[in-house]
Amino acid sequence: MALIVQKYGGTSVGSPERISAVAEKVARMRKAGDDLVIVVSAMSGETDRLIKLAKAIHSDPSPRELDVLLATGEQTTIALLSMALEKIGCPARSYTGFQVHIRTDNVYGKARILDIDESRVREDLKKGRVVVIAGFQGADQDGNITTLGRGGSDTTGVAMAAALKADECQIYTDVDGVYTTDPRIVPEARRLDRITFEEMLELASLGSKVLQIRSVEFAGKYRVPLRVLSSFEDGPGTLITYEENEMEAPLISGIAFNRDEAKLTLRGVPDKPGIAAQILGEIGKANINVDMIVQNVAADDTTDFTFTVHRGEYKKAREVLARVAQDLKAREVNGDDKIVKISIVGVGMRSHAGIASQMFKTLADEGINIQMISTSEIKVSVVVEEKYLELGVRALHTAFGLEKTSQSTV
Ligand code: ADP
Ligand code: ASP
Ligand code: MG
Repeated sequence: MALIVQKYGGTSVGSPERISAVAEKVARMRKAGDDLVIVVSAMSGETDRLIKLAKAIHSDPSPRELDVLLATGEQTTIALLSMALEKIGCPARSYTGFQVHIRTDNVYGKARILDIDESRVREDLKKGRVVVIAGFQGADQDGNITTLGRGGSDTTGVAMAAALKADECQIYTDVDGVYTTDPRIVPEARRLDRITFEEMLELASLGSKVLQIRSVEFAGKYRVPLRVLSSFEDGPGTLITYEENEMEAPLISGIAFNRDEAKLTLRGVPDKPGIAAQILGEIGKANINVDMIVQNVAADDTTDFTFTVHRGEYKKAREVLARVAQDLKAREVNGDDKIVKISIVGVGMRSHAGIASQMFKTLADEGINIQMISTSEIKVSVVVEEKYLELGVRALHTAFGLEKTSQSTV
């Protein structure tokens, strides 16, 4: 008998029929003897609908109240799923994040889970109940409701599995595993049987929305056995592994992309110590996260300073930069919010040279200009014009032989 935490995403619980189908599956597993904790998302489209509703009332709603509102999406699903389970004779209990003591910090909209008191869940399991928990939410130490950021139900699932020391955390979604890239963009993309934790972490942080980045971080910290599967069909899914065999590792495991990027450049800033700290200090004070950074070598005694931010924070970043430009007597501020980031990821890169140049050549052959580059041990990212996103991803997918089982070498 195993203890399994399953998380079902929005599409998987997107209608009464889908909720009933999930209930059937859960009841079957329960009958077979497993202890089950089920974490659910809001029904598909619900979180977006609630955000729109809030915006119809207030263009800049209070983050606290927005979280109170958004948490209702998941609360609806837990009640419906529990009803569906009871209807077919499977005892179940639903809990909101607050009720099940998912304690978070107080950063509304992107709160982090601090701890979970899982005793209540264990009591229910002992009584033979299936426990149904609202994903994406918790409460801070003062009892304020918080949410964990978009895609946050993944993190609830993994955190719950860590707290309960579950035998496996299964993330059920609308694709049957982690693919070499988003199958919506590249139909030839291939499901991976397994992927290393490190690669998954990179893919998630570079824009693959199949798992929320924090859920992967959590899984790594507590070594949670994690699998991504389809709620629509049976199959082995993709296992996230914690050991890697570099000899067998493919060169590239996957391609990630992120559309939500924007680029800012401060031209003609003095080339002297402290300038980067001053510019990024001001950006940081405005709570804006910076991703890639490039500072050119000075031709005269001034230089250009470029960095990327989340597209949603572009306007705010530009305003801050306009002020900094005045203070620094910089020549001008430029910006572009029509850029995207494409990244190739693979632990095989550690032991192979020439991967980055293969990437650049592939993009060049398609006439795609690279605006910025950043690399780490197991990834190469480039910033390109937005209109080249699909073309770039497809070209790289082919160039690295990702659609085939055996991969071509460079
Ligand atoms: P859920 O609502 O179940 O959480 P998401 O929409 O958050 O589902 O995540 C699943 C989606 O992630 C897929 O439909 C797919 O389009 C997208 N995706 C992006 N990159 C990948 C990838 N490498 N492998 C699989 N799916 C991916
Ligand atoms: N409902 C939330 C969202 O749409 C959380 C989740 O589905 O994981 O982002
Ligand atoms: Mg998701």
